[in-house]
Amino acid sequence: MAKLYFRYGAMNSGKSTALLQAAYNYEERGQRVLLAKPEIDTKGADQIESRLGVARPVDFLVGPDDDLRAVFQAAAGHAPVACLLVDEAQFFTPAQVDDLLRIAVLDGIPVLAYGIRTDFRTEAFPGSARLLEIAHSLEELKTICRCGRKAIFNARLVGGRFVFDGDQVAIDEGQIQGEVTYESMCAVCYLRESGGRLDGR
Ligand SMILES: [Zn+2]
Repeated sequence: MAKLYFRYGAMNSGKSTALLQAAYNYEERGQRVLLAKPEIDTKGADQIESRLGVARPVDFLVGPDDDLRAVFQAAAGHAPVACLLVDEAQFFTPAQVDDLLRIAVLDGIPVLAYGIRTDFRTEAFPGSARLLEIAHSLEELKTICRCGRKAIFNARLVGGRFVFDGDQVAIDEGQIQGEVTYESMCAVCYLRESGGRLDGR
């Protein structure tokens, strides 16, 4: 039986690099894969970009109201698909994550979903929460905090200053004063910067 895999990590934990490597491994064996991601991620438009400089276009984008399984089946056509790889999976709706499980179990196609577990306030993204609930396999991709511990949170900076309030997704940076960046942090460093707050409390 094909399975749904959720490979999660803080920002800069190499998720896109791992996804592109997995796609390459399939294709090296002559197998066809499909790459997808949610439309909400405007950063790379219709590309999956590794920080190492490798990039390739996705086979399809998924809008917030799309029936993911139908969009997948339309993209797949009649040729066999060995694997579906999705990036930025935290931005899928819970219903779309349910479709990822259906694609694995009912259509028999392994689904590798890569994404961030929690937002800058340490709250799970809806798509990630659903993946943590129903994925067959959970695997953490690790990265290091500035202090050397494993990073598990994603602190947000606006104009170089830490902020702990705001919208979950700061895609529309035009409405925010200053550039939005993120720093992957361990809990110790996060709590030090937030003054002990978690999730705005
Ligand atoms: Zn730290």
